[in-house]
Amino acid sequence: MTDASTASSTQTSVDSPATTRKSTTKAYAAQAPDTPLAPFQIDRRALRPHDVQVEILYCGVCHSDLHMARNEWGQTIYPVVPGHEIVGRVTAVGDHVTKFKRGDLAGVGVMVDACRECSTCVKGLEQYCKEGMVLTYSSHDKISGEITYGGYSKQIVVDQDFTFRVPENLPLAQVAPLLCAGITTYSPLRHWNVGNGTKLGVIGLGGLGHMALKFGASFGAEVTLLSTSPDKAADARRLGAHKFALTRDPQQVKALSGYFDFILDTASAPHDYNMYLEMLNLDGVMTCVGIPPAPAVIQIFTLMGGRRSLASSGIGGVPETQEMLDYCGEHNISSDIELIDIAKINEAFERMLKGDVRYRFVIDMASLA
Ligand code: NAP
Ligand code: ZN
Ligand code: ZN
Repeated sequence: MTDASTASSTQTSVDSPATTRKSTTKAYAAQAPDTPLAPFQIDRRALRPHDVQVEILYCGVCHSDLHMARNEWGQTIYPVVPGHEIVGRVTAVGDHVTKFKRGDLAGVGVMVDACRECSTCVKGLEQYCKEGMVLTYSSHDKISGEITYGGYSKQIVVDQDFTFRVPENLPLAQVAPLLCAGITTYSPLRHWNVGNGTKLGVIGLGGLGHMALKFGASFGAEVTLLSTSPDKAADARRLGAHKFALTRDPQQVKALSGYFDFILDTASAPHDYNMYLEMLNLDGVMTCVGIPPAPAVIQIFTLMGGRRSLASSGIGGVPETQEMLDYCGEHNISSDIELIDIAKINEAFERMLKGDVRYRFVIDMASLA
């Protein structure tokens, strides 16, 4: 076992990557639910034989980062370094790495390990690992037990099996959000066979929602954005929606009663699920990927009235994440972003809470000097 616990305690900086020692790297962390993110120094493990070290160039800002930094789901381990939409360049590889070499571009998403042996892992659905996946941050490393730290940092060390090849033909900063917002919307649209002939409704135009519009349109569905923000109508059409409905207007909601075959719910805050379920046609499915901090209240009559289904979905497995990245490269799909310096991260969180993001903040990691 070549792991952090057996490695030398001598530390190196990211500028002189070493495969045999832990490395120290700059990061931004929250120390408690009510403290802002601030500069913090972390250690990355010495490279195990299958590990790659990635210098992080860009990291997307997912609403899950905000939920986690503020412990809204009650599972955060502090200090927490968020960030799971990571792209960068490989700076070192372990002795048995075959997938990457120094200088390659690479991406890391929401998970960095799983048991790899259970019935879901062997299907390539590691996000549903029976033992629980290891999250990119605020999780425990399977071997060392150390807390994982995410992408709001200069470099990361990850097993090659949980590291992705990223399309070289797309602007790299716009690729970062594909690692979470991309796969989290791609996977359910594929699983529920959304395509030609599907009437698709997407709830919420944020990071996930804007990717859902792009994928839905690319797969051939008739796409409607269901939004609380009237000023997003023009952007919705530009991003691939054929229709727009303002869900604050009861008339527009009523007009969509029984209309959709499939609804993808990306809303981050508590909302009335029953109002949206009423919009499903017979046998329609509403899949919630948004995870508001409060439990959902469901009126079973609403489901019964159209043999409707309510479902959920978590990111995507390793093979499907690579498939999605390759699809984006082939079809020229990437995220619409606002590039920020890391010093603006707390402001970005506040703007994200107000729905004021067009449509993903991405941190330029060069700003973490
Ligand atoms: P985001 O960029 O902040 O977008 C969320 C959007 O939801 C907002 O822009 C807003 O769009 C809409 N919204 C907010 N409050 C609403 C309400 N009360 N009713 C209806 N719509 C509302 O967030 P994100 O990064 O896309 O993440 C969305 C959610 O998905 C978060 O809860 C996140 O934790 C979760 N998530 C889940 C997974 C998974 O694996 N399942 C993966 C990633 C993220 P409008 O202005 O258009 O209404
Ligand atoms: Zn995410
Ligand atoms: Zn497993």
